[in-house]
Amino acid sequence: MKFNPVLETIVSYEAGKPIELVVREFGIDSKDVVKLASNENPYGCSPKVEAAVSKVISKMALYPDDSMMNLKTGLSNKFDVSEDEIIIGSGSDQVIEFAIHAKATKGSKVLMNSITFAMYEIYAKQVGAEIIRTASREHDLDEFYALYLEHKPEIIFICTPNNPTGDAIDAASLKSFLAKIDSETLVVIDGAYMEYTRFKDESKSVTPKELISAYDNVLYLGTFSKAYGLGGMRVGYGIARADIIKAFYKLRPPFNITTLTLEAATVALEDEAFVQDCIAKSFAEMERYNDFAAKHNIEVIESFTNFITLVFDAERSASNLAQELLERGMIVRDLKGYGLNAIRVTIGTPAQNDRFFELADSLL
Ligand SMILES: *Cc1c(COP(=O)(O)O)cnc(C)c1O
Repeated sequence: MKFNPVLETIVSYEAGKPIELVVREFGIDSKDVVKLASNENPYGCSPKVEAAVSKVISKMALYPDDSMMNLKTGLSNKFDVSEDEIIIGSGSDQVIEFAIHAKATKGSKVLMNSITFAMYEIYAKQVGAEIIRTASREHDLDEFYALYLEHKPEIIFICTPNNPTGDAIDAASLKSFLAKIDSETLVVIDGAYMEYTRFKDESKSVTPKELISAYDNVLYLGTFSKAYGLGGMRVGYGIARADIIKAFYKLRPPFNITTLTLEAATVALEDEAFVQDCIAKSFAEMERYNDFAAKHNIEVIESFTNFITLVFDAERSASNLAQELLERGMIVRDLKGYGLNAIRVTIGTPAQNDRFFELADSLL
């Protein structure tokens, strides 16, 4: 069968390997498999969420509240923005899709970092847009600006902190960059890990409120999949001026968020103490990864989030290490597909990290 020719330009997104697959392929008991590959919160979500979700299970026969009133009120209070400046997606992934479909068509240009979240490219290619990338590994806003002037892209993606490298942009530099961009260019600030950055270094943190008050062309993205521990529920959000959100609504399928998910996210927002505690633990454990890297002479990119990227020299293959770890039940992310001889490891619980160090020490 022939398909839309743009599909030939797309490589399917490769998610972190699921635990089930390792169980099947290597015959390892599921309780012995450790997954540090998708930047999930290893402590799970607030216990209040589980209690609340079990109460709405009886409502499964009915369609969800498509106005998403409770969750919108929660987000609106948290971020001090109005409800018509918020759209909720099945993961912030879906909001990325809305943004691209709302703004780009065949031949449009989309500017992004050399190494960044793979879904920007996948959605952009779906509409036949052309991808423009910087050259540096970390975000370099001067380079972004030069490419912006040269190509006049419809959309610019800025991922801070960046996945899969963990580096974050200085807030003041980001704002002066935004001030130079014309208001017809949509600038997406993907803050999937912003909660972590805000905890570690205030000077690298931006809020949706300050962005959308100052700039009429910025879309801020947030998710419940990372710090809030709800990856399995699929929920994220976009915050922008109301005219942008109104355009995105034309692309939104009805009932894109389930009743259970809406309840989970609403209640998760009410337990900020849980999230802050998880973030503190994650950064405390990260110190052990820095020590590990120093001991083995491995480069680390300073991380402002819940994972760390270990970059190997040419003599050692990060890919081989990832494979050997996998065969022993330790799932980490091989970054070969991004052109890096590196692995990305989500900071786990102390016990999960113990296991990583034990295995990696024996393999290196
Ligand atoms: C995880 C992630 C997302 C989106 O996750 P969802 O689960 O779809 O909300 C978006 N951007 C980046 C950079 C991510 O790492």
